[in-house]
Amino acid sequence: MTPLQQFYEEIKDCRKCGLCESRTHVVFGEGHPNAEIMFVGEAPGENEDIQNRPFVGAAGKLLTELLAGIGLKREDVYIANVIKCRPPENRNPRPEEIEACKPYLWKQIELIKPRVLCTLGNFAAQALLDKKVAITKVRGQHFEVKNFFVFPMLHPAAVLHQGNLRPALLEDFQNLKKFLGKGLQPAQQPEQMGFF
Ligand code: SF4
Repeated sequence: MTPLQQFYEEIKDCRKCGLCESRTHVVFGEGHPNAEIMFVGEAPGENEDIQNRPFVGAAGKLLTELLAGIGLKREDVYIANVIKCRPPENRNPRPEEIEACKPYLWKQIELIKPRVLCTLGNFAAQALLDKKVAITKVRGQHFEVKNFFVFPMLHPAAVLHQGNLRPALLEDFQNLKKFLGKGLQPAQQPEQMGFF
């Protein structure tokens, strides 16, 4: 069993916050266990909760298409969420739920050691930049946080609700492609940074 699988076994029955009452699965994440690029969304939705996979359904299909558009497959990257259990009726995650669950995301990052963390939407950007930011202000930029690159992007689900955002999301992926094409400086190992 890999360390990532072992970690999943440790948290798959988590009851640290109230979301455990209504979820079907703790949706851990999936993808390459040593991915250079990790995508982080907000929380599982209904399909994700049922299938125990992140980013399935319409938003997942769009994410897969966007990845293909820049020459990447889902299995090349790792995909997870800040919150591992579905909030009822897909409501926004509450601060106490984010605080309870965020250490799991950091542990995944520690194990996967990606060099670029692409956050999808407001909640993931705020969770990884650790401050209140509006995605419309920070998208398209990259931030060095604890020696990782954090690259905020719009959430594919936002485009499904507001079709006029599609060009901006396509632009985010093209910007990511350009950023990756520049070559990345070697990232320090997470355990050297002292933030886990
Ligand atoms: S959302 Fe996270 S902290 Fe809350 S029960 Fe699920 S796994 Fe545990």
